[in-house]
Amino acid sequence: MKKKLISALMAGVMGVMLVACAGTTEPETTAEVTAEDEPAPTAAEPETEEAATEEPASDAAEEDVQAIIDRGVLKVGVKNAVMGFGYEDPLTGEYSGLEIELAKALADKLGVDVEFTAVTAATRTELLDSGDIDCVLATFTITDERKESWDFTTPYYTDYVSVLVEDSTGIKALGDLVDATVGVSSGSTSAKALVKAMIEEGLISGDGFDEESFDPATWTEGIKFQQYDDYPTISTALSAGEVDAFCVDKSILAIYRTEGRSYIDAEFSPQDYGIATTKGSGLSKVAEELVGESLADGTIDQLISENGLD
Ligand code: GLU
Repeated sequence: MKKKLISALMAGVMGVMLVACAGTTEPETTAEVTAEDEPAPTAAEPETEEAATEEPASDAAEEDVQAIIDRGVLKVGVKNAVMGFGYEDPLTGEYSGLEIELAKALADKLGVDVEFTAVTAATRTELLDSGDIDCVLATFTITDERKESWDFTTPYYTDYVSVLVEDSTGIKALGDLVDATVGVSSGSTSAKALVKAMIEEGLISGDGFDEESFDPATWTEGIKFQQYDDYPTISTALSAGEVDAFCVDKSILAIYRTEGRSYIDAEFSPQDYGIATTKGSGLSKVAEELVGESLADGTIDQLISENGLD
């Protein structure tokens, strides 16, 4: 019924244009393929034929989902160095973690293989928007601002933001960060979360703070930020004293908490992770179904404990 309605609406909006999904088949990919740095093949343009045969609406998947099924592979953006979430073994190239298992389950639900592309906070949305990947499972925090651009599922995990420092600096609490320079990843929620926490604690005035227009690059009111493209570079900058502190979700900081480094005594700003998909896509619905089912039947709890995340 619903599919029929969608077909009818599409036909109304797009005139007589019908999508010939058979024309979008991509080269077959078997098993898990890592596609880091390799631009994935772009999806073929939907063919717009004047008179195409109408698909039976009852079992036709929505256009984008059908294209993934025809291609035979779901392209997922994941982290490759976040232990427990998305981690690629440097020796075997095998990916593991909660987000990897959820990506595999999503591919299984569609009856296709899965292909992982390593993404960063800075690249994940560009790759989704360009169609190089179909969805993002990469410690991607759900925010109201992001929901304006992408669909997110119900959260499958909640993390918190914290701050990592070199013990030698003597920085121990949020108050010690006043006038410090903090390393954050471009495209992350971290800088805004830290500024908000410091304002809430009364440590900085918050003059000129605006949730919508906040930009880490220009913020100088009581704390400054240096933005980097990836986390290993922030870690190096922390060792070099280029930044006084490294701020991001604890799940990520944990990787860089080596000898002689500690978290400050604060964790703030809950970070709900969801699967992100193109707004209004059929895949958004399939992803939501998967997360709903996996939360309800205990699969997510089990994956959280299997991956050492509780
Ligand atoms: N989870 C945070 C975000 O989505 C931190 C950045 C990251 O995931 O790398 O902004």
